[in-house]
Amino acid sequence: MEGVLNERTRTVHKKGVENPHSRSKCGATKGVSHDQIRAVRVERAVEDFDAHRCGRCFSDAGGY
Ligand SMILES: [Zn+2]
Repeated sequence: MEGVLNERTRTVHKKGVENPHSRSKCGATKGVSHDQIRAVRVERAVEDFDAHRCGRCFSDAGGY
């Protein structure tokens, strides 16, 4: 699955296909500068960057 990783917060989001400008599905990366955002597969972000999945983008991610 294609995703976007916020390298600062180490959160991976679903790619925002509905709104390309927000980059992530939930819009959380909207105000984040471009050099902190990396387009990467979700599985790879979790494995290689030790990122956690955004609870708003992934309903199965748990948490709040
Ligand atoms: Zn998100």
